[in-house]
Amino acid sequence: MPNGFASEIQGIVCFIGVGSNVDDPASRCCEAVQRVSAVRGIKVLRTSSLYRTEPVGFIEQERFVNAVIEIRTVLSPRELLNDLRAVEDGMGRVRGPKWGPRIIDLDILLYGQEIIQDDALIVPHPELHKRRFVLTPLCEIASYVIHPAFGISIHGLMNRLGDESRIHIHEARGKLCLI
Ligand code: AMP
Repeated sequence: MPNGFASEIQGIVCFIGVGSNVDDPASRCCEAVQRVSAVRGIKVLRTSSLYRTEPVGFIEQERFVNAVIEIRTVLSPRELLNDLRAVEDGMGRVRGPKWGPRIIDLDILLYGQEIIQDDALIVPHPELHKRRFVLTPLCEIASYVIHPAFGISIHGLMNRLGDESRIHIHEARGKLCLI
């Protein structure tokens, strides 16, 4: 097997949440995916559709566009977090209120089947199972994946979801960023 191919398939499969509600959010999400795919040690495997979603928390703000990407990475969880933050910073993210407007938000939803809880990082992401804007795109590409803390599939979590916020497809899968 050629080395290039062998190195491409190494690493842990992770799911990253992507969101924006500022400055043409769909384009910002696509730009973020492009930037993530350019990070050394990350290979983007699949992307969900782009979804237009209602804001949670501060509801007096622009609607969000959300998506989920599946990646394979040789980076550690902390390295991955740092690189995602560098992508956010590179796109001009200014850190504001937790649920406030944001040019780009990148969250580690799942890092393989690992459960991580330290000062900087909680994985699986603590909002994953509560939010329709996360679960819907995640379920589109990873319905079979088991949430390691709950032992329930993403599809199962969707069926138990209480969040009634509205969400609809903005741009169908496959068009996202043409990676
Ligand atoms: P926010 O960008 O507002 O979603 O919050 C980012 C902060 O949340 C980062 O500085 C991280 O230290 C922390 N954090 C904790 N768990 C996660 C996670 N699973 N993914 C991304 N950020 C996380």
